[in-house]
Amino acid sequence: MADVVLKNICKSYDGKINAVDNVNLEVKDKEFVVLVGPSGCGKSTTLRMIAGLEEITKGELYIGGNIVNNVPPKDRDIAMVFQNYALYPHMTVYDNMAFGLKLRKFKKTEIAERVNYAANILGIEELLSRKPKALSGGQRQRVALGRTIVRKPKVFLFDEPLSNLDAKLRVQMRTEISKLHNKLQTTMIYVTHDQTEAMTMGDRIVIMKDGLVNQVDTPINLYNNPTNKFVAGFIGSPAMNFIHGKIVWNNELSFKTNNYPELFKFPNSVNRDLKALENKDVIIGIRPEDISLEPKSEKSVKMTITIDVIEQMGNEIFFYFIVEGIQFTARIPSTHLPVEGEKTDIYLESGKLKYFDTITNDVINN
Ligand code: ADP
Repeated sequence: MADVVLKNICKSYDGKINAVDNVNLEVKDKEFVVLVGPSGCGKSTTLRMIAGLEEITKGELYIGGNIVNNVPPKDRDIAMVFQNYALYPHMTVYDNMAFGLKLRKFKKTEIAERVNYAANILGIEELLSRKPKALSGGQRQRVALGRTIVRKPKVFLFDEPLSNLDAKLRVQMRTEISKLHNKLQTTMIYVTHDQTEAMTMGDRIVIMKDGLVNQVDTPINLYNNPTNKFVAGFIGSPAMNFIHGKIVWNNELSFKTNNYPELFKFPNSVNRDLKALENKDVIIGIRPEDISLEPKSEKSVKMTITIDVIEQMGNEIFFYFIVEGIQFTARIPSTHLPVEGEKTDIYLESGKLKYFDTITNDVINN
């Protein structure tokens, strides 16, 4: 069992740009932390530095309280699961799982005990005598997990382990890895570019962009209280809608954009909350589910739009409309059926609107 602490960790490949830029993070013992962000944001590099597969350019890395910058990977007591599970094709599942222990000269009885324990946890006991080619993708990934479990590492590291699986299997394996975490009670650090994976699996999520950590928080806090526009847009599917404009006073408070002197009026009840933002350029963010065809409260903001496209999802409907050349997404219950091409009033939940600074993109807490 171990905590993992990154202090001012930097990685530069060319001596100039930091692929990972001054990352500070404390992963608690037994915690499941997910590093998420778009491709190239530095999440794999961060994980590989924790594994010892990549040299740390600057900063300190602690595992279980010990500084490990110069400790080779095999002595860090960690195990890594990759996207490519790389099983030995000529070996049985049992031998694949036992291989690492044999190399480390474990006794046969100890090996058998550990392999059977891992196989039991993963529900693959009946596959132990099979060769990898006789396994499905999900089963292979389970064997790859088993290979790490037998080592009883202090920390598990996962680098996009589900990327090679089809969508349905990914969902299944995602819950299995979460269950595995509950059973093993071991620190786990998991890298993915998929925000749904991050939201569903992580105790806490680290959102990265351009080598920088943007926010570290629980899934629900990231969703409700993003610190900046990037986090707000990255977490949530369909993504948050954004529109740039100015809050102006003209007998009442309204929102002005390039082409609309009054895109919508704010209800009197929210005027006081927005006073500080008057005459300020802001980006407003609104989640698709906070747009509806009927007012939900006296704080609902009315806007008139033309429905562009409708997508019937069965249990709900997405509809799209264009404002200032930007496509907006709304998500409503399937009890309402809007009509494509129709001009209609929609309502934004003003209490749910987020305001972002147009220069820093940071959220403005009004
Ligand atoms: P992610 O895992 O978030 O997709 P990476 O950690 O793989 O991102 O990469 C972060 C940045 O570092 C990217 O700009 C990538 O091009 C660069 N990078 C990664 N590995 C190397 C390498 N071996 N040599 C040079 N640049 C690299």
